[in-house]
Amino acid sequence: MAEQEYDLIVVGSGAGALLGAIRAQEQGLKTLLVEKASLFGGTSALSGGGIWIPVNYDQARAGIKDDLETAFGYMKRCVRGMATDDRVLAYVETANKMAEYLRQIGIPYRAMTKYADYYPHIEGAKPGGRTMDPVDFNAAKLGLKALETMRSGSTGSMLFGKMSINAFEAHSMLSRELKSRFTIVGIMLKYFLDYPWRNKTKRDRRMAGGQALIAGLLAAANKAGVEMWCNTPLKELVQDASGRVTGVIVEINGQSAQINAKRGVMLAAGGFERNQEMRDQYLNKPTRAEWTATPVDGNTGDAHRAGQAVGAQLHLMDWSWGVPTMDVPKEPAFRGIFVERSLPGCMVVNAKGQRFLNESGPYPEFQQAMLAEHAQGNGGVPAWIVFDAGFRAQNPMGPLMPGSAVPDSKLRRSWLNNVYWKGETLEDLAAQIGVDAAGLKDSARKMTEYAQSGKDLDFDRGGNVFDRYYGDPRLKNPNLGPIEKGPFYAMRLWPGEIGTKGGLLTDREARVLDTGGKVVEGLYCVGNNSASVMGPAYAGAGSTLGPAMTFAFRAVADMKGQP
Ligand code: FAD
Repeated sequence: MAEQEYDLIVVGSGAGALLGAIRAQEQGLKTLLVEKASLFGGTSALSGGGIWIPVNYDQARAGIKDDLETAFGYMKRCVRGMATDDRVLAYVETANKMAEYLRQIGIPYRAMTKYADYYPHIEGAKPGGRTMDPVDFNAAKLGLKALETMRSGSTGSMLFGKMSINAFEAHSMLSRELKSRFTIVGIMLKYFLDYPWRNKTKRDRRMAGGQALIAGLLAAANKAGVEMWCNTPLKELVQDASGRVTGVIVEINGQSAQINAKRGVMLAAGGFERNQEMRDQYLNKPTRAEWTATPVDGNTGDAHRAGQAVGAQLHLMDWSWGVPTMDVPKEPAFRGIFVERSLPGCMVVNAKGQRFLNESGPYPEFQQAMLAEHAQGNGGVPAWIVFDAGFRAQNPMGPLMPGSAVPDSKLRRSWLNNVYWKGETLEDLAAQIGVDAAGLKDSARKMTEYAQSGKDLDFDRGGNVFDRYYGDPRLKNPNLGPIEKGPFYAMRLWPGEIGTKGGLLTDREARVLDTGGKVVEGLYCVGNNSASVMGPAYAGAGSTLGPAMTFAFRAVADMKGQP
């Protein structure tokens, strides 16, 4: 059994893990990062890369006013007592320092001035500016060899499955801004003309979103000299007689090895979304591992259990970062439907053909509404997203590109009655998908009326600034459109998630607490491995990555005895 010693051992290689490792190494702590998978980056590499940073450095440029008290008040109200004020305050006070640090190590972000906080009705919410998106990253700065060690982005989030598109460009396209046509042409030209790069790799040189974040972090980790081992799963934590965590047992080539950590171990091994047994034990039912949008097979809660074995307290285990998902054959995970559900001219119904939610609302609440509807016996799992020929022609939906670009005749044949269902009339469609026809017709009639009046009398869709972010601003209500012209389409939605959010309970320095509320010395935890500082909520886009990196930043400060 090999035995080695470092100051800090970081477990996992998502955004929080990498940021913690870089910061620690730069602060003089000899750091080792161990990753279970054969590639670095975790779900973070496939994410949008957005971070929710109140009072951030880029708000002034955009003329946005924000302050710590307002941000703290908003987040505290979102959290509903499920994370302590102490932790919430620590987050609000440190998030921008962490973002500044990201910029310093070569990963600048821009404030998304039009992307509202998720709960505009809660006091202290801002109509934009707290969510930040990473500036595009040139993969050449990471280098081809290191690029090969990094998890690639999901094709579903790329233009034509190949070209990176950042959040600003995606929003411009979906809002039908004229300039977006030039943007798309520009992206395609840059991609196709970049022969020197494309001769070397299929991956786009221009990285956006989570790819930009993780490539930037990997480049910084290499520069700082962090030692990183893939194919090295954590098995157990090692404690001394006093209960202090002093190292880890990992598996290397089938052999156990103990590695000691003088200052601490930071668990950042993601959620347990891929572990069906843990889902059955903790999450609301029904719940299936295959519904998750997280394609990282290794996120099986190993470090939750390792933490529990040394006495850690678990918290928020029945919560996840919910999102409706869709099964797209050949994709590594179900696809999260973040945006399209908000566009005008579609509606979501239960087995009775009735709407039961605001389709444009925040996605975690969407998933919760599906489960609640199911629990009431109305058939909310699966739910169906239904639209007509007019919507189909103009808009994307999951893997279906707008019909004007890719008509039904060009879609894969195997997708019919598998990915999408199609009926000449609503009755026909209802019979195919097993939904009540009278209910479906009634819901479509009401939606068409609401589109004309601009007011959704049932769920107030489009009634706030968050809903309207993804919509058609030319309409009376950007989120409402008629459903009246055949053929009609339906696609199936599942209550998936982009990660679980329950885990090891920590204090304001990301130190793990035991079941008696005492600190487990030497053990830190961040990201989806830990119980989220957001409690049951999703304060704004970037509510998972922002805290993961911010608490990793704080953990290192704690190890170094910094305030
Ligand atoms: P991960 O990034 O999943 O990393 C965990 C790592 O730990 C993995 O690499 C895993 O292999 C490794 N691991 C597991 N077990 C072990 C073990 N025993 N030993 C060693 N290593 C182990 N969130 C946002 O805030 N903003 C966004 O814009 C955003 N967009 C998203 C878009 C999509 C499509 C998806 C799917 C998610 C998105 N999310 C977003 C959610 C976000 O990606 C995750 O919540 C976040 O990446 C979790 O980070 P993490 O470090 O906790 O876990």
